[in-house]
Amino acid sequence: MFLPENQPAKKQQNMKFDPASNIQDLLQFGEFGDVNPSITDSATYTFMEAKTMLDTFHGEQEGCFLYSRHWNPSNKYLADALAAMEGTEAAWVTASGMAAITNTILQLCSTGDHIVSSMTTYGGTFAFLANYLKKFKIEVTFVDITNLEQVEKAIRTNTTMIYTESMTNPLLQISDLPALAQISRKHKVKLVVDNTFTPMMIAPVKQGADIVVYSMTKFINGKNDCVAGAICASTEFIASLADVNSGTSMLLGPVLDPMRSSSIHKNLHTLHIRMKQHSLNAMYLAERFKAAGLKIIYPGIPEHPQHELMKELMNPDFGFGGMIAIDLETSEKAAKFMELMQKEGVGYLAVSLGYFKTLFSNSGKSTSSEVPEDVQKKMGLSDGLVRFSVGLDNDIERSWLKIQSCLKTMSII
Ligand code: PLP
Repeated sequence: MFLPENQPAKKQQNMKFDPASNIQDLLQFGEFGDVNPSITDSATYTFMEAKTMLDTFHGEQEGCFLYSRHWNPSNKYLADALAAMEGTEAAWVTASGMAAITNTILQLCSTGDHIVSSMTTYGGTFAFLANYLKKFKIEVTFVDITNLEQVEKAIRTNTTMIYTESMTNPLLQISDLPALAQISRKHKVKLVVDNTFTPMMIAPVKQGADIVVYSMTKFINGKNDCVAGAICASTEFIASLADVNSGTSMLLGPVLDPMRSSSIHKNLHTLHIRMKQHSLNAMYLAERFKAAGLKIIYPGIPEHPQHELMKELMNPDFGFGGMIAIDLETSEKAAKFMELMQKEGVGYLAVSLGYFKTLFSNSGKSTSSEVPEDVQKKMGLSDGLVRFSVGLDNDIERSWLKIQSCLKTMSII
């Protein structure tokens, strides 16, 4: 998955990459010609000959299934569609986004290794890196991922990976993936990217990343009816995760239920339409918030520090995404404002994102609460930051008028 050594990564951006058409072009025929492949509701699989079972155990029998913690046909259909979307050789699906993240990290790192990570990441990821990995004596240096000099300086001889999010949670910084890929190639470390906020919009492997991880709980599934994750990478890396002797996914076992794989698979086919509508609605609100004089973060407006970079990285047609943050300075003000918005029917006061309805939460007191307060301050996370995941509202002006009335009631505008 590496770009050729002598080819500057930024050149790759001129090639049109269309994840939605890649999924559309994938024809997956079900067992009985079913257009939605049948759900394989089995934990184990039978063999006519014992030798085939033995070969399958060692991963040498293409098309055969052994046991559903290893591979399940329904999971394979979804994994193949995700690999097509990302332009990777292979993919693997997991029972949560955290399983995708932790399995990838544990597969790549051993005791004594070192990771360079963006300081701004989802709170659960931060906690895993900062607290949990200590058990394995794996050290992590947290950096400002937008400061490339700081990233490179943090690399040591025992560094195995650079970890970041394409669009960071919750500050919506944009990672310069081609530049990070150049640093990672130079130092022979892997670049692992969480693309949860920007599916379709950004294709990290096309920008030089080695491995892409997802919480499919969010935009990819889009229905808030389950928790799931994915890892998109080379065939070699995915096979290493599934290895019966040393594969982290095989041995820790965070397998996704095939019923869920099947429903996520169907939802994946509408992802491109949903991303466009999330982006359209978020851009509308961002412009209204800006005009009202609020302090906002949205990569789609020219004031965002990485707006130009985002334009370079993004695939055409999917917009700047559905996430916006506004800074109300104190958590008390943020709490009152969110309660009022929920009462007015703007959406739900809830964590998570990528849902068809608008969700909002105060990041410092919710999805980033695992991050110690001093680190929150260092990364520039305000106490009053309200993160919006903008929904698929048909009439976004109507939603804006409700938000505007809440802002006025609280004398914020
Ligand atoms: N990555 C990001 C960017 C997230 O926002 C989250 C959850 O909020 C996760 C990963 C974890 O995913 P899950 O809750 O599916 O385990």
